Amino acid sequence: MKDAITELTRIVQEVSLVSTPVDQVKVIVDQISESLGSDVCSLYRIEADGSLVLLATHGLEANRPVQIPAGKGLVGQVVKLRHILNLANGLRHPEYFHVKDVLEESFKSFCGVPLVSNGAVIGVLVVQSRRAKALSEKQAAFLSTLAAHIALIVQHLPSALGVKSAADVRLLGVPASPGISMGQVRVCQKLNLADLKLRQRALEPDSEKRWQALLNRVGAELEAEQKTLGELASSEIANMFDAYKMLLFDPILGERVKTAMVEGYDLPSALKLAIQHFAELFQKMDDDYLRARHEDVWHLGNKLYQSYVAQSQQAGTVAIRPDAEADDIILLGRDISVSDVANISPCALRGIVCVEGSRLSHTSILANALGIPAVMGVQGALSADDGDHIIVDGGEGSVIIKPSAPVAREYQSLIDKARMFESELSRFKDSPAVTRSGTRIQLMTNSGLLADITPGLKVGAEGVGLFRTEIPFLMSETFPSEEAQASLYAKVLKRFEGKPVYMRTLDIGGDKQLPYFRIAGEDNPALGWRGIRFSLDNVQLLMTQLRAMLKAAQGQDNLHVLIPMVSAKDELVQFRQILHDAYSQLLEEGLAVSWPKVGVMIEVPAAISQIPFWREELDFVSIGSNDLSQYLLAVDRTNARVAKRYDHVHPAVIHEVERAVIAAQKANLPLCVCGEMASDPVSVMLLLAMGVTKLSMSSSRLPRVKLLITNLSDELAKDFLDEVRSMDNALAIRSRGLALIAQHQLDQLPEAETK
Ligand code: PEP
Ligand code: MG
Repeated sequence: MKDAITELTRIVQEVSLVSTPVDQVKVIVDQISESLGSDVCSLYRIEADGSLVLLATHGLEANRPVQIPAGKGLVGQVVKLRHILNLANGLRHPEYFHVKDVLEESFKSFCGVPLVSNGAVIGVLVVQSRRAKALSEKQAAFLSTLAAHIALIVQHLPSALGVKSAADVRLLGVPASPGISMGQVRVCQKLNLADLKLRQRALEPDSEKRWQALLNRVGAELEAEQKTLGELASSEIANMFDAYKMLLFDPILGERVKTAMVEGYDLPSALKLAIQHFAELFQKMDDDYLRARHEDVWHLGNKLYQSYVAQSQQAGTVAIRPDAEADDIILLGRDISVSDVANISPCALRGIVCVEGSRLSHTSILANALGIPAVMGVQGALSADDGDHIIVDGGEGSVIIKPSAPVAREYQSLIDKARMFESELSRFKDSPAVTRSGTRIQLMTNSGLLADITPGLKVGAEGVGLFRTEIPFLMSETFPSEEAQASLYAKVLKRFEGKPVYMRTLDIGGDKQLPYFRIAGEDNPALGWRGIRFSLDNVQLLMTQLRAMLKAAQGQDNLHVLIPMVSAKDELVQFRQILHDAYSQLLEEGLAVSWPKVGVMIEVPAAISQIPFWREELDFVSIGSNDLSQYLLAVDRTNARVAKRYDHVHPAVIHEVERAVIAAQKANLPLCVCGEMASDPVSVMLLLAMGVTKLSMSSSRLPRVKLLITNLSDELAKDFLDEVRSMDNALAIRSRGLALIAQHQLDQLPEAETK
């Protein structure tokens, strides 16, 4: 065996080069046998019933699909032991189990290592050889290390792999836009600029003219697509098209293309070089949102390339074929651009599935704004063909290609039920949220994008309980100007006229980094220069933001300024002084501004005990349960490795939230909860029992929370809170809460309301 690290890297890389899961598992077993010089390498995965299915093998001959019963044989033994089993002669082991139809009697040595994910064994990797000789210590260590990498791949494999059936291929990706839909695949087999081989040729005399014509043509196409979508979607979508157009007509793009053509590249190659340059710039950015923008750069490049080829061949090559008949289209492709979506009638578009992309892709944002289920990052999705039936579950992040009749029926009934349920729920849109006992709860929406505003209004939100202003800051290329901020804030305040809008000042730092103002050199960013700490030290930014908010609120009385990450009174005092200065300046400038309400986020645990001391400086408080849980539990809310330890119904969080609620009640301060706790049914019951009457959440969650409140009696909620006070773990609290919801049918439409 060669050097272990080189071999490991090589094998992991080989696997990442193949795109379908079936090929990936085959590459794994072939490469391992070659590397270890073993006769056999096999990969088994545990099914729901505990049996082990052979996913792939190098060297074993099996006449039929192999499935080993739970706990049986040496493979079952590895699962039980949860560590490596390395034997010179497996045939002599008491647990040896002969699998019918598999010719393995000639293989004596056996080494099995468990594949573990999230603390549970999910499969077994086995190597066998004819010679009765166990693996050397070095080889066994190599196999164990490799198994840790392989487990990451196996956990994402489609569940149907290994079972010889063409139907029900289930693939997992990233949930990007919620909802379930079913339809027929439209594959976007677009020409891909990234695949183009660079070509050089003598500079053609009209190449610059052709480039200009191409720019104008694509510019006009974008204009037309923007018009189609513009009326349907919010100005957020229009902004995406503006961004495409800005890049399209960016002189630097043109210069790069022309220079490459002068250097001897033909037009498509020159285009590829220029697009590659821009995409790399974005890809190097640390901020997730901006990094995701490299997809947009490639979308634009592909659009230009396709238009160029179509023109030169006098034939359309854009693969989306508008089909007048189909009204259930699921767009599927390596990447899908906003323009692709614009080419399909919105009434016909049922879902989006991409091999690439992230939750923050513009395609995801668009899907959310249009209310269409979407899943991104689905490896293996391109195994689907045009016209294949497909199910998209945007909430779970899964797709099922060619569902069998029973599976399709099952999902159809889920879709029908959800549709009926949503339409029933929408009837409550304008009715207030009142518990059975008559307690009135104010339900508001969390936002940060104009795209979120319309859905909030549609579900009857009674205000914006949290407007995260950092989102427009993250989407901008520089600090947004006072005018740009004022214009955005004014739109939000106006759309919610007469209803409160809690506008939070810039909350960057920690995991939210501005690419044009990076906060570097912090070992513990979550405990560093965040929220109000950053704003007070950059008073010029805070001044601009507060001036923009006050200007935007002229003529309205709904602005509530919310301060993030406050931990000490002097921050509050300093903040109020700056607000006062901004207010006085604007009055002096002759503007009719009014003094807003001022409140703090209770998200640093220290804030809880300080509420009484801050009373005089405040008009309200808002519990940010996301950060409060993170800091109380010392669990990074963005770290997937510790995600299972992060739960806002942890008894310590419940205890501290109640302490904050009591302190606010005593200080006579209105209190809202705007973290995820406000939309989780179990915690909603507890919050109501504590006396919380204002909740703010994402608009998609609001109707169901309203339903729960309508079905809940104050007594039931209080009894639950009493029980919880003597419980010592989140799991027990959660299961008790869910049991109560089921037992009292708190998530069901009231009898009288159903037909
Ligand atoms: C919170 O911390 O609960 C909160 C609502 O703020 P954010 O999620 O933006 O940090
Ligand atoms: Mg927070």
